[in-house]
Formats: sequence, structure tokens, C-alpha cells
Amino acid sequence: MLSSANCGKCHCAAVFGETAKDFVWLVYRKDGTSFYASCTSSPLYIEEQHVGVIYFSSDVTTRKSMEAALLKKTEELQLATEAAELGMFDFYPRTNKLIWSDRVKEHFGLPVDTPVTIDVFFAGLHPDDRERMTLGIAAASKPENGGRFRFKYRTVGQLDRKERWIEERGQVHFASDGTPIRLIGTTMDVTERELAEQRLQEAAQHDNLTGLSNRALLFQFAEFVFAQALRTCSDSALLFIDLDRFKPINDLYGHDVGDKVLKEVARRLQKCTRKEDIVSRLGGDEFIVLLPHIETAYDPETVAQHILKMIGQPFHVGGLTLTLSASIGISLFREHASELESLIRYADMAMYAAKKSGRNNYKFYTPGHDELATDRLRLEIHLKRKLENNGMVLFYQPIIDIDSGKVIGAEALIRLPGENGVMLNPGDFIPIAESTGLIDSLGLWVITETCKQHQAWREAGLPPINIAVNVSAIEFRQKAFASQLARTVTASGMDPSCLQIELTESAVMDNISAAIETLREIRAMGIKIALDDFGTGYSSLNHLKNLPLDKLKIDQSFILRIESDRPNQSITEAIIGLGRTLNLRVVGEGIESEEAMNFLRNHGCDEAQGFLFSEPLPAAEFESWHRNHLAHSRL
Ligand code: C2E
Ligand code: MG
Ligand code: MG
Repeated sequence: MLSSANCGKCHCAAVFGETAKDFVWLVYRKDGTSFYASCTSSPLYIEEQHVGVIYFSSDVTTRKSMEAALLKKTEELQLATEAAELGMFDFYPRTNKLIWSDRVKEHFGLPVDTPVTIDVFFAGLHPDDRERMTLGIAAASKPENGGRFRFKYRTVGQLDRKERWIEERGQVHFASDGTPIRLIGTTMDVTERELAEQRLQEAAQHDNLTGLSNRALLFQFAEFVFAQALRTCSDSALLFIDLDRFKPINDLYGHDVGDKVLKEVARRLQKCTRKEDIVSRLGGDEFIVLLPHIETAYDPETVAQHILKMIGQPFHVGGLTLTLSASIGISLFREHASELESLIRYADMAMYAAKKSGRNNYKFYTPGHDELATDRLRLEIHLKRKLENNGMVLFYQPIIDIDSGKVIGAEALIRLPGENGVMLNPGDFIPIAESTGLIDSLGLWVITETCKQHQAWREAGLPPINIAVNVSAIEFRQKAFASQLARTVTASGMDPSCLQIELTESAVMDNISAAIETLREIRAMGIKIALDDFGTGYSSLNHLKNLPLDKLKIDQSFILRIESDRPNQSITEAIIGLGRTLNLRVVGEGIESEEAMNFLRNHGCDEAQGFLFSEPLPAAEFESWHRNHLAHSRL
């Protein structure tokens, strides 16, 4: 479009000026629509006389709207990257030109006015990550790798020396000959996430109490160590360390003191070992030290001697001075076994041999230890493993209400599946559990499992019955027994009034005032309490009346031969009478014959338990027995 204007009549010179100019105008048409016009105006002179203006214009609406859209997109992108706290970088390898947004500088802990070059990038990386990044960028710069890249690296702030974890993602653009011409992408500070992940990983691989590596990490580490040892034909050794008589410390001074001792043991073990060795806590008072590289068998021996010496130093905990010792078993990688599980087992056996030969001692594994670890020791190892592997079993024996003949309860009785598959009775292993401290985890398992079983029977539609569990005196005397019991029952969802605990007289009478307090706490939850094997202990009748109890269970030795034994008959009669006076229900157990049953019924005993009704049965068999019994009692 060509136009002219008369400068005498209009103000074109004032508007357009003395020289050529470019404008973009929004021009309205007569019909109200509009368009963008790009105009170039040029003053028109004739004989140096300014006579007008020439101007060219073209419709640039499409270009203008594309520009506006682009601007909007750029703004949006900027806002989005800001919101996502992303940094932007753009690198041109041919010229080495690097452009960073302010956020990237922040990610490198650099002031915003820092001029950036590729050297600044590498200088800002954590020294341990530099080589990896050089290789990573080189690999990403090869067209055959697809051009996309994603790195995670650490930066070290120039000003604050702060270490940050940065995640970088981007794309390489290639020239037609395959050379990289541009690397463009974003950076993100992922320090928080990375640290949280590290903390989670730490927690999953470390023992909460001591901070030592746990079993999982030990296995992971061993896999790596043994693979390397096989390649380099080197030897490794495993030390199994068990504290001697740690249990009494826990019992006498409480878990707080016990925990502090364990922490100190962990610290001393670490002091006895080198950086490349791994010290791990298996649980309880058992520790493992893995020595990845040993020159001779003297190496583990020296470490074992050192450990014994260190553990033998007095422990000062909470104003107490305690003396401890340890027993150590040693097994050798390759000579004894080539995988961790077996090495632990052999070192464990050698440790028992060390204990047997007087404790505060170490022993290398020899095949003879397999036989040494017989009887009690073997049983102890077996029991421990079954407890750890959830391999214990509960049997249930029904308890009958004598008046109605209905099943009103069951007693949970623990069994240990033996090595040959035969079930071992509690008499064979409860004393071992008590003397080795395993009774706590055994007891906890029994209560947890019983509650679970009770709920399962309820869900299977069986009428509610009471379930009794036996509690060892040692468990009962633990300060936290009542609260632990409460936690377990609550967690199971079981109605506490369906649970009964059975204690022997000695458990209660040894420290009567503490016992009364614990019993009150337990009863306040609604749980019932029975005094088991009553009549054989030395219960003072005076004390008995002060105890918060629900039931007396007559010791089965009085009932087994009751038909023909006059003295047993009078004792049983007396116990039933005592129960009535104290307002307690009386249970007869060990009932094997109709005669014994009749005797108890005739003398007012309330509940009955014995082989006459059923032997203790596995859970599934008990359920069928119970259903059968219900069906018959309906007939
Ligand atoms: P208890 O609590 O007095 O359990 C009764 C014992 O008598 C059970 O022996 C049972 O099988 C047996 N019995 C029941 N009726 C008869 C019968 O008619 N004739 C004969 N001859 N025996 C009968 P078991 O299962 O060997 O348990 C022995 C003891 O071991 C229990 O005596 C209890 O004190 C203890 N015990 C059982 N389970 C546990 C447990 O989970 N924890 C603890 N701490 N102790 C347990
Ligand atoms: Mg019992
Ligand atoms: Mg009993």
C-alpha cells in the first residue's frame, strides 16, 4: 500500500519524524474487525522541502498472534520451571558456550552473577562424581544412545560448601553428521529426597539400637566379600560373639541398662576391628564380625583375643559398674563353608563349645563340635532357630464346664517340632528357654499366636470360648509384662475377657507385693487369672486371699490317681472348699477316667480338663473336635 500525506495539512512529520521508521499498528476496519499492520514510513522530500510521507504496510496479524502465543508459552514455561524449582541449562559443545538460569547457579551454590563455563560446571561437582559425569556426558553425546540423558550427581557449593544432590535431565541435539551441537535440559535439587532415601536404607540395613549393620546388610556384604575372595583366592573369617550371662543384667537392672550395655559392646567391637571388617548384630546379645581378608588363622584369633579383652573391661552404666565376658566361635570361609548361612551355623556351634569349656573363651569350629552341641546345647540352638523362624506350634486342650458339659475354654500348650519331626513337650525345652532368656520371645509369641487363633475361630463361626496361656515366672516378673500383654491383646483385636493367664504359685508368691500390682493391672484389662498346679507350691493361705485371682487349677498329680488315693481325695476336697470360700472357680486337670470326673462333679468342682475329653490338639483338629462336640451336645 502506498500513501502520501500533505504535511501542510496534517501532522505527519510530527508523527512519523524526519527519518524512516517502522511501526506495528492495530488497524480497525469499517466493519469493526481489526488487523495488525506492519508499517514502514519514510518522509518525502522534494527539493529539500518536506512534502509528505511514504509508507508501506502489510498485514502481520498471523505473525503477531504467533509471537503472542510464543511469549505466553515462554512465560508459562518460566512459571512452571520456577514452580517446579527447576534450573535450565543450555550448552553448545562446538563453542563451549554454556547458559545457566539463576536456579542452576543456586544448585551449584554459586552467586547469581557468576559467569558460567563448562569448567565451572566440573569444578562445582563433588570430586567423587566428576569422572562418572565426564563419562556420562560423553556417552549421552553419542547419537546411538538416543540423545536423552538423566544424571544424578552431587555438587559442592563454592560459598557454603554445602553438598547438594542434583538430578539433571535433558536432550542432546545432533548435527546431520552426528556431532552433538546442543545439550539442553533442566536441573532439580533432590537433596531432601536423596537424604530421606538414604535414611530409609540405613534403617532397613542397620540395627536400631546399636547402629551396627543388621542381618540383611551382613548378607549383602558377605555376598560381595565372598565373590571377591573367590576371585583373589583369599580367606575370610567369621566370628560369632555371644555375651555370657547378659540375661541377668537385663533382668536385674532392666532393659534400659541392658540396652546401654549392648550399645557399649557394639562400640568396643568396632574398636577391635578394621574399617573393612563388618560388625553386625544378629539380635539379642549375639554379634557377628566378618573379617574379609585374613592372612593366616592367627588373624581371627588375634581379633578374638582383643574382643575378649575389651569386653572384659568394666562397663559403667547409669552409676553401675558391670563386668561381662563373651564366648566366641570362629569359622573360616572356604575351609569350613563357602556361604554365610553355614559359616554362621558353624561359628555358632564353636561358640557353644567355647561356652561349654568355661565361657570367656574362643574356639575355632571343628567337625567334632557337631557332636559336642548335643543334648541341651543342640536343643537350645534348635529352639532358638524355631523361635526365629516361626516354627513353634501351639496345641489346644478343651476345658469343660462340669455343670453344663459344654466346652467353655481351651488351654494353649506349646510344642517344639523336633529335628526328627517328633513334637517335644514343654518340659523338655521351657527350662532351657528360661535359662537362656529365650522365654521372653517364646512367651510373646504364645500370646500373640493365641489371640490370633481365637480371632480366627470367632471368624470361623465357633462360639466364643476362653483361651488360657501359661506364663513363666520369669516372664511374669518382667517389669513391662502387663503393658506388653495389653499391647499384644489390643493389637489382636481379641476381647480381653476371653483370655486367661495361668501362673504357678511360685511365680506369684516370690515377690507378693509386686505380683499383686501386676495382677491388678492385668485384671483391670478384663483378662482372667488362674493359679496353676495349685497344691504343690507353698502358697500361704493368708496371702492367697489377697491375690486378685479368678481360678484355682488343682495340680494334676492329685487327680491322676484320685479314685484309689485317699490323701489325694482329701486334698482335692480341701482345694475345692478353699476355692468356694475365696469365691474362685476351681478347675480339675489331668482327668483321665470317669471315676475321677464323678469325684470332682460330686464335690462341686467347676471345670474339668483331661485326656478323658481330649488330649491337647493342633488348632485345626481342635476346631473339628469342638464342632463335633457342639453337634453331639445338641442331640
Ligand atoms: P500345665 O499348664 O499344668 O498344663 C497341663 C499339662 O498337663 C499339659 O502338659 C497337658 O498336656 C497335660 N495334661 C492334660 N490333661 C492330662 C491328662 O489327662 N493326663 C496327663 N497325663 N496329662 C494331662 P504339657 O502340654 O506337657 O505342658 C506341661 C507344662 O508346660 C504346662 O503345665 C505348663 O506349665 C507348661 N507350658 C505349656 N505350654 C506353655 C507355654 O506356652 N508357656 C509356658 N511358659 N509354659 C508352658
Ligand atoms: Mg496351665
Ligand atoms: Mg497345670
